Amino acid sequence: MQTIDKFDFAGKKAFVRVDFNVPLDENFNITDDTRIRAALPTLKKILEKGGSLIIASHMGRPKTNPDEKFSLKHILGHISKKLGVPVQFADDCQKAQAQVAALQAGEVLLLENLRFYAEEEGKPRLAKDATDEEKAAAKKAIKESQKAFTKVLADYADCYVNDAFGTAHRSHASTALIADYFDTDHKMFGFLMEKEVMAVEKVMKDINRPFTAIMGGSKVSSKIEIIENLLDKVDNLIIAGGMTYTFTKALGGKIGISICEDDKLDLALALLEKAKAKNVKIVLAVDAKIANKFSNDADTDFVKVGEIPDAWEGMDIGPETEKIFSEVIKNSKTILWNGPTGVFEFDNFTSGSRAVGNAIAEATKNGAFSLVGGGDSVACVNKFGLTDKVSYVSTGGGALLEAIEGKTLPGIAAIKK
Ligand code: AMP
Repeated sequence: MQTIDKFDFAGKKAFVRVDFNVPLDENFNITDDTRIRAALPTLKKILEKGGSLIIASHMGRPKTNPDEKFSLKHILGHISKKLGVPVQFADDCQKAQAQVAALQAGEVLLLENLRFYAEEEGKPRLAKDATDEEKAAAKKAIKESQKAFTKVLADYADCYVNDAFGTAHRSHASTALIADYFDTDHKMFGFLMEKEVMAVEKVMKDINRPFTAIMGGSKVSSKIEIIENLLDKVDNLIIAGGMTYTFTKALGGKIGISICEDDKLDLALALLEKAKAKNVKIVLAVDAKIANKFSNDADTDFVKVGEIPDAWEGMDIGPETEKIFSEVIKNSKTILWNGPTGVFEFDNFTSGSRAVGNAIAEATKNGAFSLVGGGDSVACVNKFGLTDKVSYVSTGGGALLEAIEGKTLPGIAAIKK
């Protein structure tokens, strides 16, 4: 496979798909530039090697073209500052031919939000009252116009670099389809994407045992495919967070008004059976920190997990469970953490997630490989200052989860083929 390090960028124009979908406040100031900083090593390396950059990204979910609120011109100044060079702007990503032609080595052009065009995602923008016939015709038409849209982007450049792991699970024009216009020597992952792919491969293929996954978060239903896939891989599966109570109720425990998916009780039992058949140790909570209302200043107590009084709810794991989870984690050599053990947004219910985070940090210090990913777990490690104490924190929410589910991500497959 081609790589940034091997490729000769001198005098070449590189189309680099990044994920600059950063949050902005009401004055269009960037409130968190993590995603921009994450792409800098790739962008700087290409410039250093004598290439020029055509940077492409989406932002938000625009419904029209243009849509001022989602314009990438709001972040132009910040990108210039971070890159240390002036950045030109193409205010229509499909009409940048002249600017691209004039681009010299070391110069940078940022294209306007690709999603101003419905062709980027390949989903037509339909009127609310569209008939089924109109919908079908529009879907067919956009597949055709998407090809033309993609070709315009591909024609800008000599090579294609994908550094947008956050959108790797989407088969969009700039994240996957464009790769077909470049041969294997002229398409490659950016450094961020490379790191993400390696981290996923380490927990999915190159496994050092014991392998422990900690699945938290609110619902079994949103994690079911991941859990099923993990049962073929892990030695221990720790189940935490709101999911706990669906399992506890299924096993006959009393859960008060804890979050629970009553239609998933059978599924929970089936998962336990499957785990047994596959020799996977399922580690469930034994005690809970409970509250008499869903609030940080609720009254609290600690009880056995299946003995939660009526009108109380489980908000985090209890101290016994913290010990059990920590012990399993510390004895692991590969660790995957997705989802908090409790309502970590409330300071009174962070203890379990913090204990899990600390145990992962300790295991990592002792040589384990640990991958943390999926929206809230990233917020957790940030909150507890553990980001540098785990092996890898993934930037991809949905993309990471789909990779762990065992799905092939279009953005990755398109570079590899
Ligand atoms: P997810 O997006 O599925 O990973 O879920 C993360 C959310 O689950 C966080 O916002 C937590 O507050 C929430 N959560 C974790 N434990 C509980 C619980 N015991 N009761 C209610 N919500 C919870």
